Amino acid sequence: LDSSTLLYKLCDAGEKVSALTFLYGQRHEREIQSAGAICEILKVDHRVVDLSSLKGLLSSSALTNEAITIPNVPETSEHYDTLKTTVVPNRNAILLCVAAGYATAAGINRVYYGAHFSDRGVYPDCRPEFVSSLEHALRLGTDNSSLRIIAPFIEMTKGDIVRLGTRLGVPYAATWSCYKGGAQHCGKCSSCRERKRAFAKAGVMDPTGYEG
Ligand SMILES: [Zn+2]
Repeated sequence: LDSSTLLYKLCDAGEKVSALTFLYGQRHEREIQSAGAICEILKVDHRVVDLSSLKGLLSSSALTNEAITIPNVPETSEHYDTLKTTVVPNRNAILLCVAAGYATAAGINRVYYGAHFSDRGVYPDCRPEFVSSLEHALRLGTDNSSLRIIAPFIEMTKGDIVRLGTRLGVPYAATWSCYKGGAQHCGKCSSCRERKRAFAKAGVMDPTGYEG
């Protein structure tokens, strides 16, 4: 949802974009299919980067380890503890470093990612100080002072993102958030809860088909 909105925003601004989707050992490939479909609609160059062998190294998260159950989250609860089971250690730093390597090889100076305000509490790699520090490190690592790591949603909530995406015509029914990867969104994992809440906050009809 966040990445698709970001892609629409960049295309709307007339940017020529290459999109990267990462396999990092997550349980299912449903989100990869959705990413491909969105890129197809926008006629954007799309590469799937297979880092799935990371799975064994990053196995402390429910997203990368089948032995850890992805918790169902009650509708009303604050679910900080259950969200914490979905933290993949250092994930965004790993993925952004790979993206920065690709950008450097391709002569691209801007790497965008969809971190937003609502993720800040639980995911340390969605905080502004992380983004600016990583940008600094990557500039040193590539000897390119023009390289930028840009997270345009970092001060926006997921509800704000849905509002923006609706204005841009993002086909949200084609996007995928569920951590479980069934035929439909489960509606109960923390990612589905966040998705539902974002549409509710934005006051936008949620086109997602949820189970049950
Ligand atoms: Zn779900």
